[in-house]
Amino acid sequence: MNLTPVAIERSNRDIIITWSDDSKRRYSPSLLRKACPCALCKEKQSEPTIPTKPLALPVISMAEAQPLEIARMQPVGNYAYNIHFSDGHTSGIFGFTLLEEIGSVENASV
Ligand SMILES: [Zn+2]
Repeated sequence: MNLTPVAIERSNRDIIITWSDDSKRRYSPSLLRKACPCALCKEKQSEPTIPTKPLALPVISMAEAQPLEIARMQPVGNYAYNIHFSDGHTSGIFGFTLLEEIGSVENASV
């Protein structure tokens, strides 16, 4: 089934998409950021996780310390959204099929 978004609303930092079958799905900024399908992120995800410096201490960068937010969602044709994140990442094109898959279904009563 190919669903299309009919409405998008914000709920705190999350967004909620209402789909053409009347279902609602919730998306947090971090969920979307992790699922980003762009070439850059795909490359990162497939990198082997062999630590090069075993004693390196974990570091939290400035960007990571800020709460991640969805800065902008721009339709791409009629099949996807380009999502801009507050960490400056703007190259992710999220197809409707991907969005439909990763969203967590909201209760209809909410
Ligand atoms: Zn990306």
